[in-house]
Amino acid sequence: MAEDNHKAPTLAGVVGWPVAHSLSPFIHNTWAKRAGVNGYYVPIPVAPDYNDFAVAMDALKTLGFAGVNVTIPHKEHALRYASQASDAARKAGAANMLTFGEKSFADNSDITGFAEAVGARSSAPGKTALVLGAGGAARGIVLALQHLGVKEIAVANRTRAKSEALAKAFGLTVADWEDRGKALEKIDLLVNTTSLGMTGQPPLEIDLAGLKASALVADIVYAPLETPLLKAAKAKGHDTVDGLAMLMHQAVPGFKTWFGADAAVDADLRAVLLEELKRRGGA
Ligand code: NAP
Repeated sequence: MAEDNHKAPTLAGVVGWPVAHSLSPFIHNTWAKRAGVNGYYVPIPVAPDYNDFAVAMDALKTLGFAGVNVTIPHKEHALRYASQASDAARKAGAANMLTFGEKSFADNSDITGFAEAVGARSSAPGKTALVLGAGGAARGIVLALQHLGVKEIAVANRTRAKSEALAKAFGLTVADWEDRGKALEKIDLLVNTTSLGMTGQPPLEIDLAGLKASALVADIVYAPLETPLLKAAKAKGHDTVDGLAMLMHQAVPGFKTWFGADAAVDADLRAVLLEELKRRGGA
């Protein structure tokens, strides 16, 4: 539209440290192009300290940014910085979205992102799940599973104190990290939320022999897209959900809020991201 040419573009971005690897700019800029939005979404590196984060957020607000996604190590900082927050962000103790305005609002779309990625599968998540890992992402995954109606959730983590804390906070049971393969027999869903299997990290070692045939296997790691866990699960005939599905779904609320246009998670978007992962040697 001609009048838009005279308007300043809408600005948004992703804040992290490091942040150059983030696929979020590809997602948002693809949607912006499709919808003819006059706007840009940029990666913004901000050093790990909270003070650096707060100064950067004040500056982005002054520059007129509509909002930002927030990734490692700033998800807890985003909640601390915001003057208002959604229930989801408070429950998770972390936010991946900050919307600027008179009051800054923190939200967590990782939870809905994972719930939608899993909920979109024909195989329902079932009633019992094993979550591997108890880091920042695990909290959101557990909330998503509870939202999907998964009643019994066990968590296994290398550092047991962290799985115990997560279990206490969300009413889960704790499984031994060393015995994780033995905890597979009765579960309907296995989710890896550790960074194992990611490019540059060791693979997640787990024997899937005991997993029932109908169980769904999800991995939130997306580089590489087919992690050794997903490869082993597919070879055994399991339905799988990869990390790209969650990443695309978690981006939708930010795009709609900041750029005011529709955002669709579809095969075309996935193809753009796969192409970028391939270019980086990660797909
Ligand atoms: P984090 O807070 O650093 O947690 C890392 C987790 O991995 C912890 O449970 C940690 O166990 C475990 N871990 C790391 N190295 C290990 C090893 N050698 N052996 C056993 N366990 C190990 O990270 P996060 O924010 O939760 O993110 C985890 C992964 O999810 C990352 O790969 C991230 O890229 C991915 N992610 C994807 C999405 C998406 O949209 N698809 C969203 C968020 C995160 P300890 O507690 O014992 O250290």
